[in-house]
Amino acid sequence: MVNEREIIDKLKAGEIKLREIEKYTDNIDQAVAIRRKFIEEVSNSKIEHLSNYSIDMESASKKNIEQPIGAVQIPVGIAGPLKINGDYAQGEFYIPLATSEGALIASINRGCSSITGAGGATTRIIDDKMTRAPVIKAKSLTHAIEIKTWIENNFKELKKAAEVTTRHGKLIKIDPVIVVGRYVYPRFVFTTGDSMGMNMVTIATEAALSLLSHKTGAHVIASSGNVCVDKKPSSINMVEGRGKSLVAEIIIPKEIVEKKLKSTSEAIVEVNTSKNLIGSAISGSMGFNAQYANMIGAIFLATGQDEAHIVEGSLGITTASREENGDLYFSVTLPDVPIATVGGGTSIGTARECLEIMGVYGNEKVHKFAEIIAGTVLAGELSLMAALAAGHLARAHKELGRG
Ligand code: NAP
Repeated sequence: MVNEREIIDKLKAGEIKLREIEKYTDNIDQAVAIRRKFIEEVSNSKIEHLSNYSIDMESASKKNIEQPIGAVQIPVGIAGPLKINGDYAQGEFYIPLATSEGALIASINRGCSSITGAGGATTRIIDDKMTRAPVIKAKSLTHAIEIKTWIENNFKELKKAAEVTTRHGKLIKIDPVIVVGRYVYPRFVFTTGDSMGMNMVTIATEAALSLLSHKTGAHVIASSGNVCVDKKPSSINMVEGRGKSLVAEIIIPKEIVEKKLKSTSEAIVEVNTSKNLIGSAISGSMGFNAQYANMIGAIFLATGQDEAHIVEGSLGITTASREENGDLYFSVTLPDVPIATVGGGTSIGTARECLEIMGVYGNEKVHKFAEIIAGTVLAGELSLMAALAAGHLARAHKELGRG
């Protein structure tokens, strides 16, 4: 019989640690409730909503969360249908999106309806990889170059050592191998099946590094030397790509631009050039787009992706041009979208259900999921750009009317 009061008092006295409550309870939900009650008492707050959850905390506590006290609820809405003509995603899809930003889903939905009305988005995956780039300290510049050369000449051995640790991870190259003073930064590049792969490639890279250290005397300072680049915006990811590198495009007939998007191709092109291209260039922004992070964030939160990777998914370039007949060509390019349909948070009940709505939970689904994401970003970006252009047109008309 668990004595809740006694455990809370011992927690307060520092005799039991927050992480140890499970040792004194019969099941995880009891431990979660006691931890929550303790937090309520010490913070003098009332916790009503965090306690309402249906996810399997037993399973989550083994791989997703430590010292749990409950679960956050973010409203989930649905956008679609969105027609996608991809290599992997073909047909019409409904997309679950978790957000507390009012109007976001309504706007994405307008983009979906414009794209579907125009025949569907073309989506493609142009690259697929996960990277880990440790930092190694050599004894001297000469030693650093010896290490670099050894890596370049012994790829097969390093690949064999790395791949012992995983069934799905495949080392495809180690490139670039950067030398700075006597530091060396080899960028290990893997494919990771349907997983996002960060744990997988970290373990595999460490196995390859043991061999490298043994053969060359390389001293590993850190398993990540920030050239990966994980969870930070970076030029190398913009150019080389990371996760899934995605492109989506659409030609919207001018009638749909006018009737549904309430704008014109010329106005949308001008907003894109002046804002997404020139404005981003003068501000030194790496996001040459209006709002990729909104769609990426809402899909990532709904489907159990690593939310810190939203920063990577926010990178990319939007293009817009007017076709000769007045139609609008519109595209989004996202070089860096790390995603999974297995592993990480994807099996948490709510995430799994959201993935299942799109038919992308589990093995051999990640490419289809990637193309649905590309189409959704296209829809949200198109709709916002059209709204901005409509405002610009409305202001122009008002000013002209006054003149
Ligand atoms: P993971 O769940 O650690 O690894 C994926 C697992 O699924 C592997 O054990 C893999 O086995 C197995 N698997 C089964 N079927 C698979 C399939 N079809 N494709 C691929 N793998 C399959 O997840 P992860 O993707 O490597 O890492 C994601 C987690 O890492 C997230 O929770 C994220 O937050 C966290 N993360 C870690 C770091 C870090 O530096 N460690 C950094 C950022 C994020 P095999 O390996 O045998 O193939």
